[in-house]
Amino acid sequence: MKEYAVKRTGIVERYQEYLPVTDKTPIISLNEGNTPLILSEALPKELGLKGVRIYYKFEGLNPTGSFKDRGMTMAISKAVEAGAKAVMCASTGNTSASAAAYACRCGLKCFVLIPEGKIAKGKLLQAFRYGAKTLMIKGNFDQALELVKEMTKDGKITLVNSINPYRIEGQKTASFEIVDDLGEAPEYHAIPVGNAGNITAYWKGYKEYQKAGKSEVLPKMLGFQAAGSAPIVLGHPVANPETLATAIRIGNPASWQSAVAARDESGGLIDMVTDEEITKAYRFIAEREGVFAEPASAAGVAGVIKLAQKNFFKEGTRLVITLTGSGLKDPDFALSFEDPVYTIEADLDAVREAVQV
Ligand SMILES: *Cc1c(COP(=O)(O)O)cnc(C)c1O
Repeated sequence: MKEYAVKRTGIVERYQEYLPVTDKTPIISLNEGNTPLILSEALPKELGLKGVRIYYKFEGLNPTGSFKDRGMTMAISKAVEAGAKAVMCASTGNTSASAAAYACRCGLKCFVLIPEGKIAKGKLLQAFRYGAKTLMIKGNFDQALELVKEMTKDGKITLVNSINPYRIEGQKTASFEIVDDLGEAPEYHAIPVGNAGNITAYWKGYKEYQKAGKSEVLPKMLGFQAAGSAPIVLGHPVANPETLATAIRIGNPASWQSAVAARDESGGLIDMVTDEEITKAYRFIAEREGVFAEPASAAGVAGVIKLAQKNFFKEGTRLVITLTGSGLKDPDFALSFEDPVYTIEADLDAVREAVQV
């Protein structure tokens, strides 16, 4: 039988010449990556930006709903190649969802440590449904990561947090896709920063693609932390990080140094945005652009809004904002705005009365 639609299009196959894989690497993939770069219509207008093109790299459309899948296909493939039997991660939610999915696909045991009560429901239910053993610790993400580091030290269990270098390798492919789509790198790249693996990965990707002759320019990296969890901005770890953007509720980022390097080498900046600014941006992109991303993703948008209000972006600039995860991940937050619900009789008159054009 002819198989028309079955193409292997995951990021490892697409970009293997830039990745540490060989013919012997078993590729564990869910056809991640290849996410859309969506041109913003409303945001430049709203901000009065003339001649500025803003694109959303919508990573919420990956198989488990976040960019973590790019790193996980690499990390899990390499773990299988090395003969691993089990993997483990600390997670604010999306890493555990992704690890669980890729691990179950190849029969690896998966253990996830998540902070009790601080994980969005959509992410928690994914860990359950993909069959990971889910341990809720009475502590925060940073404590969970310390425990996972200890547990995986002897090599019996493979750590799949972003301190696993294969995670960064996989995640850098998002930069490749952006350059492939735009023809070269944008002037600016805005991105939320939690554990700081992703800003590290994007910068690595942009540099490698430039070296390969795919882009003449490099972007300035603009990282955004939540104000209640902004260790890099403040210059010291935050013991009790707080923010409604739970995916970036991290007080002591593992990739702190490389995030600072990405900022400084690129001539960019790392700033912070308040939960109020995040919420506004979250609603704006959903209600005005039809792009539904989770609160942490909106931190990048909030950051761009903040900079634009200070006339940061000159005419002719192109900038990309990574929307890291899907809005469906966090239904409790999505339903917290007291949207009016109209309950009416099931007859035409009632509908006519409610529908006034
Ligand atoms: C993991 C995650 C982040 C933070 O990425 P880091 O690599 O930890 O900086 C941001 N947004 C979402 C939706 C995430 O899942």
